Amino acid sequence: MIVGVPTETKSDEYRVAMLPSGVEDLTAAGHRVLIQTGAGVGSGIEDAEYAAYGAELVGAAGDVWGEAELIVKVKEPQPSEWALMRPGQLVFTYYHLAADRELTEAVRDTGATALAYETLRGRAGDLPLLTPMSEVAGRMSVQQGAKFLERPQEGRGILLGGVPGVPPAYIVILGGGVVGKNAAKIAAGFGAEVRVLDVNPNTMRHLGDVMPPNVITVHSDRHNVRREVLKADLVIGAVLIPGAAAPKLVTRADVAAMKTGAVVVDVCIDQGGCFETSRPTSHAEPTYIVDGVVHYCVTNMPGAVGRTSTFALCNVTFPYVRRIASLGLPGACAAEPGLREAVNCHGGAITYRPVAETFGLPF
Ligand code: NAD
Repeated sequence: MIVGVPTETKSDEYRVAMLPSGVEDLTAAGHRVLIQTGAGVGSGIEDAEYAAYGAELVGAAGDVWGEAELIVKVKEPQPSEWALMRPGQLVFTYYHLAADRELTEAVRDTGATALAYETLRGRAGDLPLLTPMSEVAGRMSVQQGAKFLERPQEGRGILLGGVPGVPPAYIVILGGGVVGKNAAKIAAGFGAEVRVLDVNPNTMRHLGDVMPPNVITVHSDRHNVRREVLKADLVIGAVLIPGAAAPKLVTRADVAAMKTGAVVVDVCIDQGGCFETSRPTSHAEPTYIVDGVVHYCVTNMPGAVGRTSTFALCNVTFPYVRRIASLGLPGACAAEPGLREAVNCHGGAITYRPVAETFGLPF
């Protein structure tokens, strides 16, 4: 198969979808790998490293898209890339379609087969291609929250861990899954007072078992969400209903009642965000303020720590790339049934029910 890896075009995205080790593996198995010139530079991987393992370096994105049967990417196809997608082509990347109707219709209408990392199921029913980026974003959310709580960044001027005689920050994490657990772990390490709200009792039981005493779980309902958010210096949004838009747990009125200079890091913004006041931002302009509350809503947080994220992502995506290249999509789906769940669009139709239902589009 001809596998293509274009340079990412989303603003401030430094990841790349394949490592030199992946190129070595594919070319050894007889596949061709086209890497766009400079695709790995943001992650500290030079063209020469890819070439040394048999990659063909291609200058123009159009030539990679034009020739490849399987495109492997990181972020959702940008408008400039929609015209490059073609019927029958396999495009394996993050899409997060449920957050964006225009993207959904554009991808559907290309006729390409959209294989979404975020809906691919592992054998245990998990979301293995979402997990490592959620680990990165969860850990990073506390780092970003700490930064924007500083006064020069328009935050409340709070040090997460406090100092002897001065209490630490009060951090509220909405959702105790992968993002939430990783955020809680780092926040606890800073010495903050941490609350994690979730609806799943087993998740809260697990957190209760593995987290230090400064992490306390709270059942997520309207009453508790509002009470906790109003006490918070930093709120981290980390809820997920797979494939669907994030539920709006925090209303505009709640935000108006929050402490001035509190910070919101809405990690689930890629699924629309769990604050009514959230709207997507970029690394170039990561924050904006609503009613005195700093909002950080960057949709591709892991892109900023590109090298860590690239290695973490490729470690889990590559086994699927190898399978698809060797067996074709039907064979790979037979070998890994959870790969079927990744097919969000095929042949000009939406093939993933939650996305179709989100927009009331035919399925
Ligand atoms: P996950 O499935 O591991 O965890 C989600 C948690 O939300 C679950 O524990 C679930 O029980 C909980 N939940 C559902 N409804 C809830 C409610 N009403 N109240 C409280 N909790 C509720 O998902 P994850 O891997 O942690 O991902 C969370 C979100 O972060 C996703 O939208 C993911 O796409 C996003 N994400 C964003 C970035 C970024 O760069 N912005 C990076 C990685 C992940």
